[in-house]
Amino acid sequence: LSCEHALKKDWTMLLYDETQFQAYLDQNRERFRDELFEFLRLRSITAQGIGMEETAAYVAQRLEAIGAKVQVLRLPGAAPLVLGTIGSGERTMMFYDHYDVQPAEPLELWETPAFEPSERDGKWFARGVADDKGGLLMRIQAVEALQATMGQLPLQIKFLIEGEEEIGSPNLSLYCQEYAHLMQADACLWESGGANALGQQQITCGSKGLLYVELIARGPAYDLHSANASMIENPAWRLTWALASIKDRDDRILIPGFYDRVRDLTESELQALAALPNDDEQVLKSFGVDHFINHRQGLERMKAHLFTPTANICGVGSGYTEEGIKTVLPAEARAKMDFRLVPDMDPYEIEQLLRAHLDANGFDDIELKVLSHAYPSRSPVDSPLVQVAAKAIEHVFGHAPIVYPSVAGTGPTALLRRTLNLDICSAIGVVHPDCKMHSPNENINAADYWSAMIGTAAFLSLFSQS
Ligand SMILES: [Zn+2]
Repeated sequence: LSCEHALKKDWTMLLYDETQFQAYLDQNRERFRDELFEFLRLRSITAQGIGMEETAAYVAQRLEAIGAKVQVLRLPGAAPLVLGTIGSGERTMMFYDHYDVQPAEPLELWETPAFEPSERDGKWFARGVADDKGGLLMRIQAVEALQATMGQLPLQIKFLIEGEEEIGSPNLSLYCQEYAHLMQADACLWESGGANALGQQQITCGSKGLLYVELIARGPAYDLHSANASMIENPAWRLTWALASIKDRDDRILIPGFYDRVRDLTESELQALAALPNDDEQVLKSFGVDHFINHRQGLERMKAHLFTPTANICGVGSGYTEEGIKTVLPAEARAKMDFRLVPDMDPYEIEQLLRAHLDANGFDDIELKVLSHAYPSRSPVDSPLVQVAAKAIEHVFGHAPIVYPSVAGTGPTALLRRTLNLDICSAIGVVHPDCKMHSPNENINAADYWSAMIGTAAFLSLFSQS
């Protein structure tokens, strides 16, 4: 996977009059805000199957209103995916966003109701305003304003807007395969993006993959009197030994072949790593611990955090764990584990390696239930996409962005990167560190909404010439 395109010369001038763009924003500020609030009032909760059709139709209409050619794509049992295409030119930029939101519960913790947007202290509050309806509508309005300023757009833009991101995008891969011919583009600007706690704009170029499993050890037909421990094997011990065989005390994962596909860092990834801010102290303080694994610090800690795979125990359960004494030999023991994977690890292969490792160590009786797979994804930190985003940020925000080669978490970017062969990054969005995504009182700063719109326009203009 690599984007062959090299940056052209003389791509660094904006093709439009910025004063005129700003004037258009000022004239339409109130309408833009009202539209956002209207959009936020629509409940579109995939997990509960609420409002998907209605909200997809709203997005389709809003795209049609700026002159986009819109297709509402469908697959059996899936929420509709809205694809809007507008403009023409040599270059095509894809915007990925999603119109679904997380459930709003617990409702009593919201200061104002989740689906009644409100403004307080320069912030807008509502479920989905940060993740991702604010970013979604901001991009559409930015394109509207750029088009009004320029007369016509200097590139083609494809809006890929799905409705199942908050439940793990179960059909995105299938949509991309089925409709790949409609989704060709030169690069993709992913949802999210924004500034860190120091107000520095960030660009992120990837995410880790995931294998999520449950290990189940079974013993006697029912919980026994613990006097039987003298003659009957205890599944909790078997599970404990199996878990202990997976990772040693130096944090080394012991599954043969586990690290084989871990890709070395490129020179530019190492440079990006070296430029990351050191927040060791804040992280330790906020987590309430006094050291990191293996007493790593600074760059070494960050490198392990962003670029090494993990084997994590999410939960363990067996036997009696309530108050007081119960002498029992449990019938069963279970553990849930997640493995975060880095390029070029394959979650399906890691599943096989884990099974083979358990078998080879005498744990072939332990059941392995697989709950989730996701591929890792990392686009180059020096791609034209990232250089253009960085330039737009410098121009609009007056400072160079912090470029994260990857985040330590997992997202569905790999689905698009693998199926459509696109460089992808997140940048120039409305997210801030205290925006409370997925939590009560989700919010964005109104000022960030307007500056992200200016940044998006600059980004598009620069990309069209790149
Ligand atoms: Zn999101």
